[in-house]
Amino acid sequence: MDQFVGSTPRDTLERVSALLGHSPTSAQVASYLDEHDELRHLREEFLVPKVADLPTSDLSLADGTKDCVYFAGNSLGLQPRRVKKYLDEELDKWAKTGVHGHTEGSRPWAWAENNMEDLMANIVGAKSEEVALMNGLTVNLHLLLLSFYKPTATRHKILLEDKAFPSDHYAVESQIRLRGLDPKDSMLLLSPRPGEETLRTEDILEVVEKEGEAIAVVMLSGVQYYTGQLFNMEAITAAGHSKGCYVAFDCAHAAGNAELRLHDWGVDFACWCSYKYLNSGAGGIAAAFIHERHSHTVKPALLGWWGHDLKTRFQMSNVMELQPGVSGFRLSNQPILLVCPLQASLEVFNMTSMQALRRKSLLLTGYLEYLIQHYYTEDPAQPHKPHVRVITPSDPLQRGCQLSLRFSVPIGKVFHELEKRGVACDMREPSVLRVAPVPLYNSFSDVYRFIETLGMALTASRQ
Ligand SMILES: *Cc1c(COP(=O)(O)O)cnc(C)c1O
Repeated sequence: MDQFVGSTPRDTLERVSALLGHSPTSAQVASYLDEHDELRHLREEFLVPKVADLPTSDLSLADGTKDCVYFAGNSLGLQPRRVKKYLDEELDKWAKTGVHGHTEGSRPWAWAENNMEDLMANIVGAKSEEVALMNGLTVNLHLLLLSFYKPTATRHKILLEDKAFPSDHYAVESQIRLRGLDPKDSMLLLSPRPGEETLRTEDILEVVEKEGEAIAVVMLSGVQYYTGQLFNMEAITAAGHSKGCYVAFDCAHAAGNAELRLHDWGVDFACWCSYKYLNSGAGGIAAAFIHERHSHTVKPALLGWWGHDLKTRFQMSNVMELQPGVSGFRLSNQPILLVCPLQASLEVFNMTSMQALRRKSLLLTGYLEYLIQHYYTEDPAQPHKPHVRVITPSDPLQRGCQLSLRFSVPIGKVFHELEKRGVACDMREPSVLRVAPVPLYNSFSDVYRFIETLGMALTASRQ
């Protein structure tokens, strides 16, 4: 893929097309890009469902023996092959050694997750001491807000997106109520301009500039789950800090998808789940980040024994020796059966780098965008032909791998027809389809097949 560095996806496609003497929309171009994909081997690390195994497939319409087109990694990442082996190891250890498993073996249950924090830290651009693996995402968001959200009479607002993920919205709402405040006054919601789908950075910065003195915490997502917009976290963090706000990001859709520099950008705190791009399985262990500059000043509001220094934790003194920073926020011992799949996935990430993944991602998603525009741009000469608009920003720096597609026709039937033909993606009524070609395991041929299947699904849905 190195030969394509620095050129836009469109340039790359046109160059490959000229080289092969086939159109950029041809299957040959997809195959060529796969052959030259230096990350192609990573797909082998995952179990890709077969068309026949998906409960929605109709085998009279699709070849059941083929891999499905899995574009739902933004919702639930695929299973790394080595998960089962690691789980078996721990189940065996439990069966054979019982309580000794806490301290024995390659994955001692009492600190197994600590051994993976450097791998997670690499993925989000943090120091390993700035990251803790624990709980679920929403739990971590609450724990962090309990310590960082200290409203005063004049500075009591939390800034978030109007269409934030529901759990984040509820978390913020309830944190505000918990302080005896009214969400109507203290929740500051950011909406796109009328007629626009995504937020403009300049508008976010302007709200921070204007309202910053009243904002306690700026709490946005890194990548917006619905539109796929990647926020300029560095600029937003700087703007928030210039007004004395804490700045936090929910990186559920950003971790493992975009290149993050949480430490260098100076983000105050962040949290993310691990079952989307990080492939740890439904309900997998989530992560929390607190910047090291807060490690001795911001303390957990709630304590548990796992926040105690590991060296003396099991002396049971009942005198807390709090670990500095985010480590002190740990409450419970971590479920080893969830540590195993996360380890499996993080090790696959460690076989490459976010930089290399992102390089592929730009081309892979750019290729998808190119084909969508080629086939489904609105054409005034054909008013009855369905068209598709990409609502995700067209600027690659403002998006991760996901594209959110708005259809001119109701999406329900199209989605159903896609599912029958072995495509896994995500639908949001009334008209948005979210598709995420994930560079870790998706191929250019997957994109090609998706577009081909979309054509059939659109035709079938009109009959
Ligand atoms: C997926 C997601 C969640 C889910 O929260 P859980 O606590 O893991 O159930 C919350 N917020 C955002 C932004 C998400 O994308």
